[in-house]
Amino acid sequence: MAEAPDGVKSEPSAGLDSVAVEPLDRATIWPYRDGTPGEVYYQRYAHPNGLAAERALAELEGGEALVFPSGAGATTALVLGALEPGQTIALAEGGYYGTGELFRALERWGVRFVEFDQSGPPPQGVDLIWLEAPSNPFLTMPDLEAAVGHPARVVVDSTAATPVYLRPLEQGADFVLHSATKFLGGHHDVLLGAVACRSPEDAARLRDFRGRTGIVAAPDPCWLLSRSLKTLGVRMERHTANATEIAERLRGHAAVKVVRYPGFGGLLSFDVADASAAHEVEISLQRVKNATSLGGVDSVLESRTRWEGDRVPPGLLRLSVGLEDTGEVWADLEQALGRI
Ligand code: PLP
Repeated sequence: MAEAPDGVKSEPSAGLDSVAVEPLDRATIWPYRDGTPGEVYYQRYAHPNGLAAERALAELEGGEALVFPSGAGATTALVLGALEPGQTIALAEGGYYGTGELFRALERWGVRFVEFDQSGPPPQGVDLIWLEAPSNPFLTMPDLEAAVGHPARVVVDSTAATPVYLRPLEQGADFVLHSATKFLGGHHDVLLGAVACRSPEDAARLRDFRGRTGIVAAPDPCWLLSRSLKTLGVRMERHTANATEIAERLRGHAAVKVVRYPGFGGLLSFDVADASAAHEVEISLQRVKNATSLGGVDSVLESRTRWEGDRVPPGLLRLSVGLEDTGEVWADLEQALGRI
């Protein structure tokens, strides 16, 4: 052990409590101890930064958490891991467009899906209920009580609510899913997904399936996620304050027909007259970024009809309100709306 100049023996820093997140470890292998694999031994099965992010998520959701390389990856693993060919998912209509498209792609493997209005009870005869809280981009909330009263198991995609506003496992849901790319990561620089499970048996099965199929998250984004989760609470508070103010101002604007905002979080949508008015708003923005995705510190807006076609009103604009000064965000939106 090194001798410090004052004669005091210095301790290596490993093992001390650190105020920073777990150091980034990109190793793919860790040596066995006395011939026995430890908690980490091969990266596909587990790695320190993934485990650290999962511990933080588990605490937030109140269940066992698993990280995946994207929200879509988490959805794929959950569906293929939990269902058999011939089984049916009841999917909340008006939710994330990509989830329905993914289920359509999985139909080749015999998994079917039907859509239903999540504000009421799910249909009978289904094997998995897939809710979204709130739905993206229609911002409806599910009737969670009706869903957990159904014999099928319940998944809540809680990407837009985050555990700051909703803890579905406490209300009887079996799984919570996140695109951690959004508010959990929070800075538009992490692509990750997560599933929190109410039962340890479900978590063990999904972990085994994840390791076998290799749908695993790399250490770097997990490290970023751990760091981001430290500010989740304050970020969500500010997202809510900013979005509440922007929603109110949009409601008072003559060019805006409808505003959808559930009263919490940073995601909202609003309608202008038609697709060409929506396009004009998109190309007139200077501060708010005309880009896809949501949940980051920067405000982003896009017309959803480009991706979703006539599933959404042609003038629907989705806005993810960031953490900027709301006066500046509103000034930009107002000048863009003034052009239509
Ligand atoms: N769930 C919701 C509600 C989303 O908005 C998204 C992406 O937009 C996803 C899941 C998919 O997540 P990812 O893009 O991280 O694969």
